[in-house]
Amino acid sequence: MSLFSSIEMAPRDPILGLNEQFATDPNPAKVNLGVGVYFDEDGKLPLLKCVVAAERLMFEAPKARGYLPIDGIAAYDKAVQGLVFGADSAAVSGARVATVQAIGGTGGLKIGADFLKRVNPSAKVLISDPSWENHRALFTNAGFEVDSYPYYDADAKGINFAGMLAALEAAPAGTIVLLHACCHNPTGYDITPAQWQQVVAVIRQRDLVAFLDMAYQGFGDGIAEDGAAVQQFLAAGIDFFVSTSFSKSFSLYGERVGALSVVCESKDEAARVLSQLKIVIRTNYSNPPIHGAQVVASVLGTPELRAMWESELAGMRVRIKEMRVALVDKLKAAGVERDLSFISRQKGMFSYSGLTKEQMVRLRNEFGVYGVDSGRICVAALNNKNLDYVVSSIVKVL
Ligand code: PMP
Repeated sequence: MSLFSSIEMAPRDPILGLNEQFATDPNPAKVNLGVGVYFDEDGKLPLLKCVVAAERLMFEAPKARGYLPIDGIAAYDKAVQGLVFGADSAAVSGARVATVQAIGGTGGLKIGADFLKRVNPSAKVLISDPSWENHRALFTNAGFEVDSYPYYDADAKGINFAGMLAALEAAPAGTIVLLHACCHNPTGYDITPAQWQQVVAVIRQRDLVAFLDMAYQGFGDGIAEDGAAVQQFLAAGIDFFVSTSFSKSFSLYGERVGALSVVCESKDEAARVLSQLKIVIRTNYSNPPIHGAQVVASVLGTPELRAMWESELAGMRVRIKEMRVALVDKLKAAGVERDLSFISRQKGMFSYSGLTKEQMVRLRNEFGVYGVDSGRICVAALNNKNLDYVVSSIVKVL
């Protein structure tokens, strides 16, 4: 009897499983709309020019690789604060924000979850229904009971905002509420600024704990526009959490560049929170890696490189919007009568297309068009070469 004889096979990650199936599909016309990755017009993963330029600077002045501080590169943490909160925000200038470098946005969420478990071990976590697959698993693994608040309204092709608000109003004080700051994954539906105001008000009144997941800043309407919810929380003067990911906005998926920021009531509180975040990091992986964070710090901190990044990010954002509009237009031109204009109003990389599981399975098996069974497609993987094929395939399964 071996130590592992009773270990069961864990289920495959549903989206990565799709990728494996896609890789072995012999259909030459196949299109992968499953994974959450931005591809350029040529169907390639972009390597941003600002990243190459920053790496060139690093190459020209090579440095030895000592351990980083536990909370990461100081200039990086500062740059994250500037981007997320605004460098001249009162919270940042008053040193009321504790920010740590993290292993991607996932790492930021995990550090926050582990810290919250120390702060309020019996708190419940509420995530949107539906949410990014990993939210539930991550907070469950951190020891929390995870429940959901209503979000997607399939019939209305929109958000069940009344249901969302009612769930928050009914939540006990201390409940941790995971919110997508912008570009909701998987649905693509974001609440409006006026609705955010109501959410912030309930969170303040009910003493809930807001945890904003910001994995797509710049992919919706712009860097500042996508950060508007954060500004509302700042203005409300409450403590809250923000996880940041640069995987998409810098196309640095494999470098694992992210952060966690905790907005506190005072400078002294932020210092104490930071000391605890460092314990969480120290006892998990000791300290973070250098390369990706150095690239991002250098780009954000060098005016020419930053301008380059903002324009490259805008390029990705605009191309996605164009693909949304083209998808809607071409489906209409192909004779589809139902109103699909919601696709062009959704934000970010994804669209809940409204297609059923059966239709998604047919798209995959008969046409090699891979999306998620929920109907989620990655609009950021569409381009002018594969669009007509995707449209004609969708028309055949409708
Ligand atoms: N949150 C959301 C909503 C995401 O979609 C993702 C990535 N798919 C993440 C967090 C994690 O980002 P990262 O890859 O930087 O860990």
